[in-house]
Amino acid sequence: ARLSRINKAETTCNYCAVGCRFDLYGRDGEVLGVRPADTDATPANDFSTCVKGKFGYDFANSDDRLETPLIKGDDGEFREATWDEALDLIHEKLTEVQEEHGQHSVAVTSSSKCTNEENYLNQKFARQVLGTPNVDNCARLCHSSTVTALKQTLGYGAMVNRINEDVGETDCYLITGSNTTESHPVLATRIKQNVRDGADMFVFDPRKVGIAEHADQYSRTKPGTDVAWINGMIRYIVREGLHDEEFIEERTKNFEELKEKVEPFTPEKVEELTGVPEAELENAARTIGEADTCIFGWAMGMTQHAHGTRNLLALTNLALVTGNLGKPRAGVSPFRGQNNVQGGGGDMGPAPHNLPGYQDPTDEEVLQKFEKEWGERPPDEVGLRLPEQFEEMKEGNLKGMFIMGENPVLSEPDIRDAEKSIGELDFLAVQDIFLTETAEFADVVLPAAAGPEKLGTQTNTERRIQFVRPAVEPPGDAKTDMDILVDLASRWGYDWASKYDGPSDVMDEISRLVPLYGGVSYERLEENPDGLQWPCEDEDDPGTPYLYEDGFNFDDGKARFVPADYAGPVELPDEEYPLMLSSGRVLYHWHTGTMTRRVEALMEQVPESFVTIHPEMAEQIGVVDGEYVRVTSRRGDITVKANVEDQSDPGVVFIPMHFVHGAVNELTQHELDPDSYIPEFKVTSVKVEPV
Ligand code: SF4
Repeated sequence: ARLSRINKAETTCNYCAVGCRFDLYGRDGEVLGVRPADTDATPANDFSTCVKGKFGYDFANSDDRLETPLIKGDDGEFREATWDEALDLIHEKLTEVQEEHGQHSVAVTSSSKCTNEENYLNQKFARQVLGTPNVDNCARLCHSSTVTALKQTLGYGAMVNRINEDVGETDCYLITGSNTTESHPVLATRIKQNVRDGADMFVFDPRKVGIAEHADQYSRTKPGTDVAWINGMIRYIVREGLHDEEFIEERTKNFEELKEKVEPFTPEKVEELTGVPEAELENAARTIGEADTCIFGWAMGMTQHAHGTRNLLALTNLALVTGNLGKPRAGVSPFRGQNNVQGGGGDMGPAPHNLPGYQDPTDEEVLQKFEKEWGERPPDEVGLRLPEQFEEMKEGNLKGMFIMGENPVLSEPDIRDAEKSIGELDFLAVQDIFLTETAEFADVVLPAAAGPEKLGTQTNTERRIQFVRPAVEPPGDAKTDMDILVDLASRWGYDWASKYDGPSDVMDEISRLVPLYGGVSYERLEENPDGLQWPCEDEDDPGTPYLYEDGFNFDDGKARFVPADYAGPVELPDEEYPLMLSSGRVLYHWHTGTMTRRVEALMEQVPESFVTIHPEMAEQIGVVDGEYVRVTSRRGDITVKANVEDQSDPGVVFIPMHFVHGAVNELTQHELDPDSYIPEFKVTSVKVEPV
């Protein structure tokens, strides 16, 4: 038989938020391959894609893809259903729940894997169609503390600079809590090249992660002690006169308060609290203080703590003290996780405390603007954050849920408890590309299209809005998340099908409501293949490569020093649980692994969960490399392979977050950061024993 034509789509990677662009090839429903885009403009992949970008697309071809809606019967088994049956049932059940338990007894979860347009519609479905402010997404679990801290200090909760021209060209780096080489590989390549060309790099981390191999100095920190060493650096820099007095005087507020707060953090005290030797602290502080430009880069090693917001307040204070904001090649750079967590998880407002564009849902002027556009007023209150939603399920107050493209049964802390909570729901609908661990709990499952099958935009970690385009059709009866939401809304009488001819109409609505996206349209994105970086406020605005050149995002234009108090980890090792566990990512996998565990080329590299154990500790416990061990915390226990290596101190072990068997979140704890509600994933007390 004759083969049909090969489609080529110029698109953006579905994995991490570096946002590499490539050409994706597909034919007859099968994704065939990837070729890095012929551009050196966006963002960083004039090198190449990483292994996930190159081979990771194969998840879309998996035989496990959902192709038809599923409804769970009384026997607990799923049966195939028509779209009408499934959508009618969701409407019937959510309406029933709301009639019986009140409008706010339902919640919606959005997905950073989906496009901006889909996330915008998801929160609109929650707020307008269901009338609930209870909408959240997995950004709560990764960088909510970053966003909270940066909004307080600088005004916008986002990376301030560009990957290529700023991060790739700076004079100095302070990288902390980021396994950049494995989690953001192409960005790491850019950094390593710049270090080879002469930039200084300091890495502070409990684990000697890959990027540390390229550093001028690696400093091992005790888990959960970051505020102490950062405050210590600030103190040293100010005392040595290495701070940027002019910048502080003209562009900031509250410096005296900061000076007072960091005073107790002498080098001796810092060494005692954090394990960082005085000489290392002083060497890093001096080099950073003397550098013309410095980039402060971090990821979840800083954010996922019960004091995550304080960590990022401290780091931003350090960047401000040294005058490293509002200029090129400098600034604070949160390396965001999922492909569209900046746009879909943040900018589009699927969050209980933010309408799209980080607008206040309790502000009358904002509400009126949305009411005018939507024809109805959104709920004028703050809803439940994701961890609160799970608490309310357990308490029996939250009864119905609609989850789009997320897998909280693996990503929440203490997942045995999360499973119990989700089991308490009267009704759960899940929309996804696979029958995920969460979808197994659902009453109705809707088959969604994957990234290679849809048109839309996503916004990468440097605020760059770029296209994703389809190379293939979705399998079977699967539909794009946007089409599903449009069909679903129609059950409640909303005619979104006539309102939105396609995702470009949704972007037009976004641009009318969200000033940061005011100048963004599909026409402009077609004309600007490098994308547009927000704020892009009107059609003449070329976008903003780096933030705060003309002032910080406050009425007076000044940044705020918000001093950070020190508090150590919540759960400290004791006799029963003598080790500290940290969780994280590996190069070959992605988040809860729903996609990468279905890619043979990636599974060949890392086929199962493991725990890293220092050789001294392994000897003490009596295990050898490759043996299975039991890891136990106060929440549960798992059995995983021991990987004996010396990346961390003997008292610290590490388990990746990507697997169902040996799921690290069976061990992690509920404790939340009070400011951002991010859980303390990064420090858990455990014991390790031979099986
Ligand atoms: Fe995709 Fe990130 Fe790899 Fe680039 S670095 S190819 S965006 S996973």
